[in-house]
This record gives sequence, structure tokens and C-alpha cells, in this order.
Amino acid sequence: MEISCPHCQQRNRAPVERLSTGVNCGKCHAPLLSAPLDVDAEGLNALITGSAVPVLVDFWAPWCGPCRMFAPTFKTAAAKYGGRVVFAKLDTEAQPSIGQQFNIRSIPTLAAFHQGQEVGRVSGALPLAQLESLVQQLITPPSA
Ligand SMILES: [Zn+2]
Repeated sequence: MEISCPHCQQRNRAPVERLSTGVNCGKCHAPLLSAPLDVDAEGLNALITGSAVPVLVDFWAPWCGPCRMFAPTFKTAAAKYGGRVVFAKLDTEAQPSIGQQFNIRSIPTLAAFHQGQEVGRVSGALPLAQLESLVQQLITPPSA
């Protein structure tokens, strides 16, 4: 898929399934996953179905105050856990079909996906500690 580098906006071609092995931007050489990826509907679907690691998606919109307040928290978590989890942001205003596809009723909504399935969802802007515990749950294999 094509991914805009979250650091320098350069478009990069990267195979989704290999993203989590640490793909760096071809221009600025920063790891693509060390910040939230801005994705469109197509990119989001590619990530959800192709990613080898869980994908955490922030459904947001530019007019939403709590969404903008949450953005730095999401970014901090991406810098810490990016690679073990793919952090993605989807602008629901720019991609109106997505709200219906994923049944997004309020924003911000955080939804987690693994191996093509939704595995969790939280509405509202989370404090960092709560976001981190959500991420920890995602990267800890469930005890069978
Ligand atoms: Zn870059």
C-alpha cells in the first residue's frame, strides 16, 4: 500500500504485512510506524486485513475538539508502541463512507483490529494511562 510518512509526508510504497518488521521512510529514514499513519478508507481496509500486528484506529474529525485534544496522546503512544501495534488515524469527515462501514456513532472512537476482526472499541478521548493499558492488552497474547 501507499503510506504517507507521518514525519515528512513523503509517499512510501510498503507491503502491509511487512510494516511491523520496521519499514523506514525512503526520504527521512524515520520508522513509518513511530507515529500515527493518516489513512483513507482504502488504506484502512488494507491495514486491517493485511497487518501482521494489531491495528489501533483513531476515528476522528477536524471539527471535533476532544479529537484534537486526544491527538497528542495517541501520538505519544505511537512513539512508544509503534511497530508492536499499528497506530492509524482516519478522518471521518474526509471519508464519510467509513462511519457507516464501521458503525461509528460518536467521535473520537478508538477501534482495535487483529487479523481482520474488530477486537475492541472505546469511545471518547482516553487519558494516556488508559490508552497504554488498552495497547498492553492488544500486545499481550490472550492466555488460552
Ligand atoms: Zn519521512
